[in-house]
Amino acid sequence: MPDVDFNAMHFPPGSTIGILGGGQLARMLCMEAKRMGYRTLVWTGGLEAPATALCDEVIELPFDDPDALHRFVSEADVATAEFENIPRGTLDTVEQSITLRPSAHAIVTCANRELEKTFLRNQAIPCAPFWIVTNATGLAAAMAELRGPAVLKTSAFGYDGKGQLKLRGDEDPATVWDQFQAPRAILEAFIAFQSEISVMIARNQRGEIVCFNPVENHHRHHILDLTIAPAAISAELRQQATDIATRIVDALDYIGIMGVEFFLNEDQSLLVNEMAPRPHNSGHHSIDACVTSQFEQQLRAVCNLPLGSTRLLCPAVMLNLLGDMWPAIDRAPEWSDVLLDGSAALHLYGKKRALERRKMGHVTFLGEDALQRAEAIKATLLAKGLTG
Ligand code: AMP
Repeated sequence: MPDVDFNAMHFPPGSTIGILGGGQLARMLCMEAKRMGYRTLVWTGGLEAPATALCDEVIELPFDDPDALHRFVSEADVATAEFENIPRGTLDTVEQSITLRPSAHAIVTCANRELEKTFLRNQAIPCAPFWIVTNATGLAAAMAELRGPAVLKTSAFGYDGKGQLKLRGDEDPATVWDQFQAPRAILEAFIAFQSEISVMIARNQRGEIVCFNPVENHHRHHILDLTIAPAAISAELRQQATDIATRIVDALDYIGIMGVEFFLNEDQSLLVNEMAPRPHNSGHHSIDACVTSQFEQQLRAVCNLPLGSTRLLCPAVMLNLLGDMWPAIDRAPEWSDVLLDGSAALHLYGKKRALERRKMGHVTFLGEDALQRAEAIKATLLAKGLTG
């Protein structure tokens, strides 16, 4: 048994966890919270959020609503966020009133690409070369210095490839800036990576850290398509990825779970792409394939409980179910193909309308042949889907 001071356990089961955001990540966090005897209060910021079916209490009001803020901090014992684009003012007020984990500073650092990249550079953590750009002249200077393919990314509100533009390097900077329509951006060198991997890492208030096995990620339309666990990388690389993620959470004095995404280059060097200050899509397999899921780990870290084992019980592949696998916008696939696989776990998020690129659910396939089975089901679902 580790030497644990249980009196320092500030938020035991029975406490109310306030969750900023009501998407699928909040929904899966609510499930784990319920299992462990916690209450949940979800502040969705809008209507029809996936978590509302599973939480104990819900606030369906915008994040700048003063009454909503008052209710949230009055009813929750401890707060966390399921997505990072919460207004800074809301995060600050929540943090001044109750415990917010991770901190507003950590959430904002990860949410804004300028702050995120500057943090990485200051910590001497390897990432793609970048330039902060605020006007056409700045873009011209950055492109002249880089002299090659690049990705222009908005500083704020970018995810799943949104707010990104790939550049060859010979475009007219004034035209590009004019069309990009963002107040601030970063220009990043295009990385011809060999593969993409990610690591989920959790740290609690006592500074204890646990890391899940790195996984390999494949994208479709810039959105995560498949996650393969574990990533087929050397023990040395696995250690390097874990060491980098550890440096990041220590430097941010981070409390909670974080997803760290990496590019793996041909020469086997790692570059950090981005950090997600919350559970991450590439950690969903942990629900079915690890001793402790990333959501339970988030609860444990946020509530300052001892952290759980991250051991992967067997190889797994997570397949994202995007809306283009739905035969019609309001008609889900017949799940027989998935359910016939007795070692596959179906997760649906309860979303009513299937937009082409909307994340509707995921399936976790367990076993040595998980990838072949996932690819076969994916092909079947896509063939019967909206665009098939
Ligand atoms: P992001 O929203 O920054 O995670 O980017 C989404 C995806 O775009 C990444 O997972 C990569 O596949 C790709 N991408 C982003 N930045 C770069 C880059 N600098 N070089 C090459 N591909 C990139």
